[in-house]
Amino acid sequence: MSSPPPTPLLVDIHTHIYPPSYISLLSARSTVPYIHRPADNDNDETADARLIILPSDDEPSKPRHQRGRPLDRSYSSLAAKRAFMARHGIAISVISLANPWLDFLVDDLATSAPRIAADLNDELDRECAAFNDHDRTLVGSPSGQKLYAFATLPVTAAVPAVVAEIHRVRALRHVRGVILSTAGLRGAGLADARMDAVWDALSETQTLVFLHPHYGLPDAAYYGTGTGTAAGSDSGHVLPLALGFPLETTIALTRLYLAGTFDRFPELRLLLAHAGGALPFLAGRVDSCVRHERAFAPCTPGGQRSGPARSIWDVLRSNVYLDAVVYATPALKAAVDAAGGDRVLFGTDHPFFPPIGDDDGQGKWESVQMNVRAIERAFGDGGDGHGLATASAILGGNAVRILGLDLD
Ligand code: URA
Ligand code: ZN
Repeated sequence: MSSPPPTPLLVDIHTHIYPPSYISLLSARSTVPYIHRPADNDNDETADARLIILPSDDEPSKPRHQRGRPLDRSYSSLAAKRAFMARHGIAISVISLANPWLDFLVDDLATSAPRIAADLNDELDRECAAFNDHDRTLVGSPSGQKLYAFATLPVTAAVPAVVAEIHRVRALRHVRGVILSTAGLRGAGLADARMDAVWDALSETQTLVFLHPHYGLPDAAYYGTGTGTAAGSDSGHVLPLALGFPLETTIALTRLYLAGTFDRFPELRLLLAHAGGALPFLAGRVDSCVRHERAFAPCTPGGQRSGPARSIWDVLRSNVYLDAVVYATPALKAAVDAAGGDRVLFGTDHPFFPPIGDDDGQGKWESVQMNVRAIERAFGDGGDGHGLATASAILGGNAVRILGLDLD
């Protein structure tokens, strides 16, 4: 009788946290993004608190205590992260601040954005150290759990401050890259010319960028014009999260590509959330339209049409990594076809997509199981061992290699 194959190493590169200082930042606000805490529960960290981060969550017709999503300890507690990892056999997690990061720090706060970002990044690094030390010293703890982190940038500050933070976080022991939204600097988008200084610093320092959506598409794209949010709200988060987030990433990366960014910064490395949205599926259309329809772009002052010189397929296979947070085999196969089996990485998006209804604290989360099963079904047993190798690379091996994670 043949023995069952060994359990592959599981590494989660898409998993979020709101550290205590960020919880305080949002708790002090009353416009999106904010945390609403019923007054009589003020001394209870999270009881009945609501996390209101998506503009569509701030529906004025609803009382505040029903807006957004419940904010339980899984959003801020590393003990909860540890329990979640143990529940799913995740050995290593690379934690990142969740949306909307520091994108909203404008006016007076933009001046303090560099300090807020630095404090947050130091806090994350300290939390990783404490987590890893705890695991080493605690007798009977689930062995081998480890944390690393993606840092956050002060994207509303002056460009030199953003560049300085990219350089500064290199000294933080657990940082393995930075998380960035599609908003770029002060909402000007990733193709804005001022981003070049940021791409330059990221390339020079070989810093991996985890590109994550938050803004989705304009309401009119979901609901038509003139219907208002009331018609929209009956979709819950389905349209914004299932379609808006991935399409936002698709558009952002395509714009970046059209701006010639990968021609100017061939060393740039981006890890795209949700497998790059629709990009693996639509890259052929991007390629065809660049060949056949690019001529309709306005000329630059010098009379040249701007990039791209490289093909989108080349960029996908040399500048892009994709997470595997797509929940189904067709999308996963497209991701691997587009970027390569050595460039797709497992993630959970914890603490989002928790179990529905009562959670006994024991069973696996359905959202996580869907991702694991999709990987196993797509590549689990090709009969020749090749598929198994791809599955275990996606589940953990790729992350260890690409992010330089230490297994000891
Ligand atoms: N996943 C995220 O990372 N953020 C959200 O707001 C929802 C799902
Ligand atoms: Zn996420």
